[in-house]
Amino acid sequence: MDIRVGQGIDVHPFQEGRDLVLGGVSIPCHVGLEGHSDADVLTHAVMDALLGAAGLPDIGHLFPNTDERFKGARSITLLEEVNLKVRARGWKISNCDITVLAEMPKIAPHIASMKQNLSAAMAIDAESIGIKATTTEKLGAVGRKEGIVTFAVVLLSR
Ligand code: MG
Repeated sequence: MDIRVGQGIDVHPFQEGRDLVLGGVSIPCHVGLEGHSDADVLTHAVMDALLGAAGLPDIGHLFPNTDERFKGARSITLLEEVNLKVRARGWKISNCDITVLAEMPKIAPHIASMKQNLSAAMAIDAESIGIKATTTEKLGAVGRKEGIVTFAVVLLSR
């Protein structure tokens, strides 16, 4: 069996007057994330992990932030596209593990809904998706509540 691991990292700063979307879930918060699309930092990290594992160009390449088509785009829909590209190469997604670094808001209450969205977009069981959240104990940009960082790892097999 051929297996490949992929890693994805993304960072978005907070911005007032925007919705906060993580894993396709709109989370009530007084600030959202800045970005060309819906700025779903979690889904972006997952897409880059998948693309990296499959040896495909990254999301900046596939969905450029200079392209009006992707302005305000729902990232979870873009993940469906990435999933199709990866599967077209014969890969099956074994699992996906995600770590969100955020001082706020509380992520835990939304994890089940995020898993549901990601599971539908990647066509894998929710049990094959791990989502963990941690603060940075007030250290650094995340600790100063300037934005959110996400790390994702995926395993592909064929
Ligand atoms: Mg991004």
